[in-house]
Amino acid sequence: MKPCPFCGGPPVAIVTSCPDGAAPELCTYGEDGLAVEATVFCHKCGSQGPEVEDVIFDRADFQSIRERAIALWQARDMRYAPLCVASLCAAQPVSLVCP
Ligand SMILES: [Zn+2]
Repeated sequence: MKPCPFCGGPPVAIVTSCPDGAAPELCTYGEDGLAVEATVFCHKCGSQGPEVEDVIFDRADFQSIRERAIALWQARDMRYAPLCVASLCAAQPVSLVCP
């Protein structure tokens, strides 16, 4: 993954499900699946990439949603940095807070 566009820190990909927080990587999530959000955030400054929401049913889905979040992070551009920083100041990273 590319380093953080703001501080050069190491990005971390996370998959979370409400209300439990971090979603485990499992072979199966049952017939109903598990509603999760995936995002990438900077371990150093806390800036966050776009979120991906989906319902996952198995390990392949888990890896797929994480890869989509990573792809969105990679697609970010420094042109949007001022906007992103401003929105971060206004709110805590949403990925760690359940609605
Ligand atoms: Zn950073």
